[in-house]
Amino acid sequence: MDNQNTMREAPQTLPNGQDLVLPWHLRLPARLEQEFREQFRDAAARLIPAASVLLLAVYGLALAIEHRMAPEVTLLSWRPRLLAVMATGAVLLISRRALPWLQPAIAAMALIVACVHIYLGLIVEHPLAAAYFYIPFLAVLALGSVFRVLLYWALPISLLILAGQAAALFGLSSLTSAESLIIFAFSSCGALMSLFGQYFFERLQRRLFLSDRVLHLHRNELHAANRTLETQASEDGLTGTVNRRGMDVRLSNLLHNMQHQARGAPDSVAVLLFDIDYFKQYNDTYGHQAGDECLKAVAEVPKAMVQRATDFVARYGGEEFVIVLGGTRLRDALVFAERMRSGIERLGIPHRNSGSNTVVTISIGVACTAPGIDTAEQLIQRADEALYQAKGQGRNRVACIDEEGVLRVLAP
Ligand code: GH3
Ligand code: MG
Ligand code: MG
Repeated sequence: MDNQNTMREAPQTLPNGQDLVLPWHLRLPARLEQEFREQFRDAAARLIPAASVLLLAVYGLALAIEHRMAPEVTLLSWRPRLLAVMATGAVLLISRRALPWLQPAIAAMALIVACVHIYLGLIVEHPLAAAYFYIPFLAVLALGSVFRVLLYWALPISLLILAGQAAALFGLSSLTSAESLIIFAFSSCGALMSLFGQYFFERLQRRLFLSDRVLHLHRNELHAANRTLETQASEDGLTGTVNRRGMDVRLSNLLHNMQHQARGAPDSVAVLLFDIDYFKQYNDTYGHQAGDECLKAVAEVPKAMVQRATDFVARYGGEEFVIVLGGTRLRDALVFAERMRSGIERLGIPHRNSGSNTVVTISIGVACTAPGIDTAEQLIQRADEALYQAKGQGRNRVACIDEEGVLRVLAP
């Protein structure tokens, strides 16, 4: 019954960016806000060259039309217009060199473009001069939709432009109030629509940014969980050494790489197999719990001795361990084995019923890759044969089968 209930439970879905509610003002928590702004700005910077070309083309077109209709006006307008061109150039330059200044630079450019044309609207005496008053609306449009600044910049600068335009139209220009009203209504409605579009575009951008963040977080968590599982699956719980399964995988990989001369792979592999002497008696004398503690202490000695990334200590069976040393020849492996044997003896773990000593000791069998001996099974089998001989010749000693297959037992 219980089981059935569990089966019927709705699957737990992971949160995603769409579940996160954005406040009306769109602001994210400080650190995320900072990251979003940088990401938004970098994306905007990539658009700047094309946006600058577009704006310069609009300037060129305006100049051409003006020149055709009233060449004498062009003589008056080219200087202020040059200022707008220079401001656009400056934005292009800043987008390449000084990204943190990009948003204020775009805002300044829009202000300059608007001011230049309001000024021209006031000083040019021509029936078509009223057309200059439409340009501030284009500056607002360029700010958020073409050059893409954040709404925090676009909104105040747009309002400032509209206020300047209103002051010029209603206070300073020689246009009738009806004309001024029409121009201002057109500009402010257009600007509002542009800001409205920008608000929802930015909201979408912020949501996408959050979704991406959440996805990133899940991926990292999943990766960490996978790694923990992998480690747990290949680690021996008692001694913290590699378990039998892990050993099979790592040793075969190492040998495979060696045979295929992979980059960074060793040219030889040594296998040391050791077994604690008279361990049954140790358990019988001190108890199974003490036996476990003894196993842990013994395993620490080789663990502290292996250094290279390819080397490792594995628990092969109950009280038998394997040490794999990559890039180690038989002679060096024997030195390592002897150091390990004496290291464990020097731990001085009392063993009053040991047949060979008064403390816990081990016997070790050593084998090394040689022509025709290059599989995990062959190496372990050789090491096991040598271990058997070390046991037979009195324990607490090292034995090996050399490259020619000859058995050698070393005196302790
Ligand atoms: P030898 O010198 O010939 O190796 O004699 P031995 O008594 O050590 O014989 P053997 O290697 O066959 O002993 C294995 C013993 O190790 C049997 C078992 O009681 C003990 N053992 C195996 N795994 C564990 C373990 O996880 N904890 C404890 N406490 N003892 C274990
Ligand atoms: Mg054993
Ligand atoms: Mg034993």
